[in-house]
Amino acid sequence: MSRVGVDAGAIEAVFLTHFHGDHTLGLPPFVLHRVFVDPRPITFLGPQGIEERLEALWEISWGPDWQKVMRPRFNVRYEVAKPVGKVAGYKYETVKLDHGTSGSNGYRIWVEGKILAYSGDTEPTAPLDALVEGADIAIVEATGPGDVFSHMSWEDATALKKRHPKTRFMFNHVYNGTVDGAVADFQVIEV
Ligand SMILES: [Zn+2]
Ligand SMILES: [Zn+2]
Repeated sequence: MSRVGVDAGAIEAVFLTHFHGDHTLGLPPFVLHRVFVDPRPITFLGPQGIEERLEALWEISWGPDWQKVMRPRFNVRYEVAKPVGKVAGYKYETVKLDHGTSGSNGYRIWVEGKILAYSGDTEPTAPLDALVEGADIAIVEATGPGDVFSHMSWEDATALKKRHPKTRFMFNHVYNGTVDGAVADFQVIEV
């Protein structure tokens, strides 16, 4: 975060779309920072079971020291996402997306008069169109070419963008490495 100029201590709320490892296992180092370096209050908002799932992850990460030393210093609140709610002063709306067995929460967040839509992982089904409808900016996953089980393919992403021409799309969760057309780490490309 500091590499891209984000103050990790200033984050007031974290929206979780679902609990898959590629969306949660980056959190322990961030929590470590919020426990020992910058203990400002923080809210984690996400699907049903968020408190149990995240507390279990912190426990696996640090063993008995989590409960004994770290948990008392951690200024945290857990909130199950409501259909419509407010967190850290921002209004949000939750849209249930299709993603494998667990599903995923997409969020529409109102920021300074604009609508930001965030998908997390999703299949290219009707709820995704509802999520991005009328959004100013949509951050949507676009995993790879062809058949990408329970995710968006690059072809699906292109079709989505065509259906919502007024929305500015930023696609993430993109393959990198050796796949044809993959991007490099931290690389931003215009398509
Ligand atoms: Zn996932
Ligand atoms: Zn994922």
